[in-house]
Amino acid sequence: MSDPRPQLKDCSIEALRARFAEAGLPPWRAEQVASWLYGRGVEDPAQWTDLPLDLRARLAEEWRLRALEWDVLDRSSDGTAKGRLRAADGALVEAVLIPEGERTTLCISTQVGCPLACSFCATGALGFTRNLTVAEIVDQVCRMREALEPGQRLTNVVFMGMGEPLLNLPRVIEAVRLLLHPKAFALGPRKVTVSTAGIVPRIGPLLRAVPVNLAVSLHAADDAVRDVLVPINRRFPLADLLGALREAPELGPRRPVFFEWTLIEGVNDSPADARALARRIAGIPGKVNLIPMNAHADSAHRPPSPSACSRFAGELTRRGVTVTLRRPRGADIDAACGQLAARGAA
Ligand code: SAH
Repeated sequence: MSDPRPQLKDCSIEALRARFAEAGLPPWRAEQVASWLYGRGVEDPAQWTDLPLDLRARLAEEWRLRALEWDVLDRSSDGTAKGRLRAADGALVEAVLIPEGERTTLCISTQVGCPLACSFCATGALGFTRNLTVAEIVDQVCRMREALEPGQRLTNVVFMGMGEPLLNLPRVIEAVRLLLHPKAFALGPRKVTVSTAGIVPRIGPLLRAVPVNLAVSLHAADDAVRDVLVPINRRFPLADLLGALREAPELGPRRPVFFEWTLIEGVNDSPADARALARRIAGIPGKVNLIPMNAHADSAHRPPSPSACSRFAGELTRRGVTVTLRRPRGADIDAACGQLAARGAA
């Protein structure tokens, strides 16, 4: 039997304030609840010592307080940790913690599977099951915080796990608001990044709703190649995508776009590809993140050689493009970009 009670983590703080007010309680109890649940990560109302006992008992009785439970935690030799988490209906969701010096980034999922079927991505090969709820999105943060090593602190959250965030936009926006709220997770707006494969009509609404970073998975600078790699390009071609970014008043030098480019051998890794990329994004405030393709069983694509990757980066730098060449992380536990497929699922 499924639990019919509502999930407290589905509520925005404003919605919770309204519920408390309707029940004749002081609305600021909502902020107290948020600071226990999200700020301090204490999920048992019995421990919420600054709330009255009868309210604590009522909250514990009327609400569900957890949306995801632990299934498996895998740790990579490079410090990356992948959590496979289980929703109430049995759906499996993956999230990845990536420590990098002072910074620890959490990569979270927004859908079970993904409908976009990008040719090089393992999640795409799964197909689409359903959108995650707000509670399931933020509970990835709550669960994965439990996997932090002593002395580690979560500094950044990226919506780059399974799924296309802009196809689950209202819930992604509510989850981002909890990540940013000073009484909830209290992250700075530039510490949160939402990535899209290019659902063009939803980019403006996202940028206006929340002040986070935008990442765009580009991977090709001409439509013929991008149509194959990122099939949603047939609906929203490059001219539309780049035009929308060029015209978005929210973007600028202080809020640049992060262009993601998965380097694939023989497909988008030549110096001519780099020059075409530099030409197409000229005038858009942005940076390029290069990610050598992570190989996996569902794709025949391969990463280029390290020297081909450096040459590609060099071509961009010479044309004045700011570029970072990322090292793959967590590949030994299938936690790297494009490898999240909840494998081993029954
Ligand atoms: N759907 C959104 C969010 C997922 S982000 C988006 O596409 O932006 C996941 C990132 O990993 C995307 O930039 C994606 O293109 C990249 N990626 C997918 N498969 C990959 C692979 N096998 N190797 C390296 N990067 C990959």
